[in-house]
This record gives sequence, C-alpha cells and structure tokens, in this order.
Amino acid sequence: MKVLVTGCAGFIGFHTAQRLLKRGDDVVGIDNVNDYYDTSLKEARLKELDTTAAQSEGRYEFVRGDLAEQTVVDDCFKAHKFDRVIHLAAQAGVRYSLENPHSYVRSNIVAFTNIIEACRYAATPHLTYASTSSVYGANTKMPFSEHDGANHPLQFYAATKKANEMMAHSYSHLFGLPTTGLRFFTVYGPWGRPDMALFKFTQKILAGEPIPVFNHGNHTRDFTYVDDIVEGVLRASDDIAAHNPDWSSGDPDPASSNAPFRLFNIGNNNPVKLSAYIEAIESSLGIKAQKELLPLQPGDAPDTFADSTELKKAVGYKAKTSVEIGVANFVSWYKSFYNGR
Ligand code: NAD
Repeated sequence: MKVLVTGCAGFIGFHTAQRLLKRGDDVVGIDNVNDYYDTSLKEARLKELDTTAAQSEGRYEFVRGDLAEQTVVDDCFKAHKFDRVIHLAAQAGVRYSLENPHSYVRSNIVAFTNIIEACRYAATPHLTYASTSSVYGANTKMPFSEHDGANHPLQFYAATKKANEMMAHSYSHLFGLPTTGLRFFTVYGPWGRPDMALFKFTQKILAGEPIPVFNHGNHTRDFTYVDDIVEGVLRASDDIAAHNPDWSSGDPDPASSNAPFRLFNIGNNNPVKLSAYIEAIESSLGIKAQKELLPLQPGDAPDTFADSTELKKAVGYKAKTSVEIGVANFVSWYKSFYNGR
C-alpha cells in the first residue's frame, strides 16, 4: 500500500510513518518542519525515518512543504496514487491558540481543505485525520462519548479541529469520500513534544528547576501512549471496507448516517490526576520535583476521559499502556537522546 502521512516530522506522524515502513508499506511524508517547537527535534525524527526506511521493504519519500499551499498538495497527489491518506499535520497546542489564531486557520483549516479536496479528486479510498478530545469543551458528561455532540469547543484550536470534523462530514456526505476522524486524548511517549507537560517537567526536574503545576495538580487527563494511538490510527485507516453505513456518531448531523463518515475517540479510558503523572515522572527519574502550585489556566479543560467503546467495537482496539510504563519509556528515550547532544 502507498500511504501519505502528513506531519511526519511531528511526534505522532513520525511514529505512524515509522510503523507503516516497518510493516512494509510505501510512505510519502509531508511536513513544513515549522518552528512551533525545536526544529532540531523534528530534523532528528526525519533522520530516524531515513534510517528506518533504509532497513525496511517499503519505499519512502519526504516532501518538505507547506500544506496550506495548494500547489504543494496537488503536486504530491499528481505524483502519487495513494491507497490511504493519514493527515496528522496541524498547528497543535491549546494555549498557543489564544495568541496565534492565524497559524491555526492556515495549518488546520486551509491545509485541511487542500488535503480533503485533493482526496476528493483523486478518489482516495480513505482519509483518516486527527481531531482532539478538546472538541468536547467543558461540562461534558464523563466519560466523553462521540454520541454527546461535542458542540462547545472552548479554545480556538479545538474550534478548528471541530471544523475539520464538519468539513469531513460534508465531503463524506456530498462526495462519498470515506473519512475517519480520531479524537486523540493527551498523547505522550518517546520523541514527544517539547511544549507538552511530560517533556517540560522532565527537562525542568533534571535541571533542578521548579515545575509549574496548574490547578494544583488536581485535573485529570486520559493520557494515551503514542504506540497505542498509532495502533488505533492504523487499524482505523486499514478498516476501509467497514465504513459501516449503519453507524455514524450522530454528530454533527444524524440525517447523514449513510455517508462514509466516522468519528472515534482514542483514549486510554483511564484518567490520571496530574499529581499522579508527576509522581510517575519523579519515580522514573529518581528525583523529587520542586512544585510551583498554580490555579487552572484559562482555556484548560479540568478533566478529560475517553469512552473508547465505539472504536473498540469497530476495530477491536483498546489502549493498554499504563502511565508508569509509558512515562518510564519517555524518560529513558529523553536521557539517551539529550545525553548524546
Ligand atoms: P506535532 O506538532 O508534533 O506535529 C505536527 C506536524 O505538522 C509538525 O511537524 C509540523 O511541522 C507539521 N505542520 C504543521 N503545519 C503544517 C503545514 N501547514 N504544512 C506542513 N506541515 C505542517 O503534533 P503531534 O502531537 O504530532 O500532533 C499530530 C496531530 O494530532 C495534530 O493534528 C494534533 O492536533 C493532533 N492531536 C495531538 C494530541 C497530542 O496530545 N499530541 C492530542 C490531540 C490531537
């Protein structure tokens, strides 16, 4: 199979491309390697992908380009016929979206339009794309279920991801394009993002600096290990024949249940308190953190909790990695990666 993975220099895109190559698929990756965070980490991921590709059966090509430029996307679809498209490129980050909305419009709305439009004209058999638990917003019934609407995203980031779901719904409905949106719940693991808590906390604890603990460590997150996410992404992406006309999430338009449109949560189904997450980091590092206890940040959801029943029903997937194991894997990667630099 030939698979397009967008955002392959990013955290989840890198892991996804790597798994595809290891199982022998051909992969075309696109990324603009933007400087939202340390580009040397992105370059290191790309180098690692080159190494994986050299050892695998699958062919690999990397395109350095901006998906918000329509010609970049169109040229790529002209050069290749994709069996699957896995769209993971985006302007991520909840807090950054408070001050930088245009970056989200460009990378999450314009780029998504270019990708979905290219998939439409190429009659791509399946587009799988990343959404987020943030679309649920506040005051959602726990655990978060796809059947509960998710119509009140709080942050602009979440609003753009919700827009993606609705754009996909429209294309599935109007043009019969099979789409699957996956709402990821706080993803963590080796090669993780420097703007996320696990990376920042590890870095600060090792430097002997205090860590900022928002909401006094009381909020919960359904932390989901990256390998479990990738497993879910690939199973959902592969599960094309099963675009089940009898089930859609009912969101956003129940009248469209015959459209090849699907939407699933991917989470660990096991929310963990921030304070317990920090304990797992301390225990992996063998160092006690100095904590600066702070109130909840504006725009932050107090709790997240995935109901993963629908994904399990559809593709037999359930995340399985405990936070203790996942955090230990991250810390071990972090130490070897940054000791070598
Ligand atoms: P990431 O920032 O590490 O990866 C995104 C990649 O996309 C980056 O390498 C970036 O350079 C690239 N990119 C951004 N805009 C681009 C553009 N216009 N053209 C080409 N490339 C572009 O983020 P991630 O954590 O790997 O997230 C992957 C996807 O999962 C994103 O859609 C994100 O919104 C979603 N998501 C992530 C999490 C999480 O906890 N990591 C949670 C929910 C949803």
